Amino acid sequence: MDTSVAKLICGPDADSMYGRNEEDPGLCPICKTRIEMIPNPNYRVRIKGRDFQNTYDGFYIVSDRFKQFCEQNGYSNLLFTPTKTKGFYTLLSQNIYKTSCEKGITRSSLNNCCNHYSHVYTLDRFYIRDKDFIQEKDDFIARTEFMYGDNSHKRYELIIGNATFAKMKEHGLKVQYLADVCSMEYYLEHEVEFIEKREETKRFLEEQLRKIEEYERAHRWDFLINLPRNIIKGILSLFKKPEPEIVYRFGKARPMDKVTLKNMQRYPIWMMEYVETDSYEDNWTKPFLDTCNVVESMGEVDILMKEEEREIHVSATLDARRMRLTGICRWNATTRDWEAVNPVTEESARQWKLKAVPLINGEENVTFAYNEEEKVFKGGK
Ligand SMILES: [Zn+2]
Repeated sequence: MDTSVAKLICGPDADSMYGRNEEDPGLCPICKTRIEMIPNPNYRVRIKGRDFQNTYDGFYIVSDRFKQFCEQNGYSNLLFTPTKTKGFYTLLSQNIYKTSCEKGITRSSLNNCCNHYSHVYTLDRFYIRDKDFIQEKDDFIARTEFMYGDNSHKRYELIIGNATFAKMKEHGLKVQYLADVCSMEYYLEHEVEFIEKREETKRFLEEQLRKIEEYERAHRWDFLINLPRNIIKGILSLFKKPEPEIVYRFGKARPMDKVTLKNMQRYPIWMMEYVETDSYEDNWTKPFLDTCNVVESMGEVDILMKEEEREIHVSATLDARRMRLTGICRWNATTRDWEAVNPVTEESARQWKLKAVPLINGEENVTFAYNEEEKVFKGGK
């Protein structure tokens, strides 16, 4: 939108903060609608290469890097609650950015039990700034006044200034831009068009539904040809035979800091493991016993690498789909420990050519080099 006054951001989905609704103290005990955001101090972050992600149940999880960015830029009224995983926090903003609760949204009726709505949605692909809300700056991190979404998945949307969004990008923080916020003046000026667009969508969906019902009665499937491409792709995927699932054997899990270079030379691929104990703050990991080949279906794994020219051993988390490394550590032969390396601040590390010890997608000696533009080590072509 060319008249964006602010941006709504989100991240990739992480797990739920609470295993079951019953455990979440922020829900109405009767209708299970979210009425409060209460972070779970026992939440563990599963995928660590991300600076910003959100849980299914509406919490924002940020990295230390994100927190430092906020502190450096002086964004105030942000609450960072530590999670069980070191270096990761639940972010709650106490700055309110008022969005319209009249125009452009739809909601269910009020639930008597808690006086909250079960469903609140935007009708368009953007949000509208409340007519009485004054946005003083273009650089801020705030949240909406009320929650959007449905039931236990309701969340305060995170709204940031356009300048803030640009700064985050420049800083290499990966946040996803979800929607724009427009001013009420802009909305009112174009309201007729927006309503017409909604009506068009409604008519289209009603027509599709009518066709589906009609053909279902006749047991015919050719209504599918009128469906949008993504829906057809989705339906086609139902006909695909599932890939045979590979069952791996793993060694015993141990805390990450108990894994030595020798362990990794024996087994070059490791995977994070969840161990529910109170005695260890750190993350646990376990080795793949009978494969030396990383494939995409493994998800994120830790692998051993070698910088041959400098004779350095390195371990890092590999995303085999995107061929990127995060969490880079160098083996210190004197202290016999892994030490974290930040290539952004350590110039010599940016010169490294890291050769993977295990195969990656069946290929030997896959080499990773630092990519100045994306500020990460990338491998392959
Ligand atoms: Zn309720």
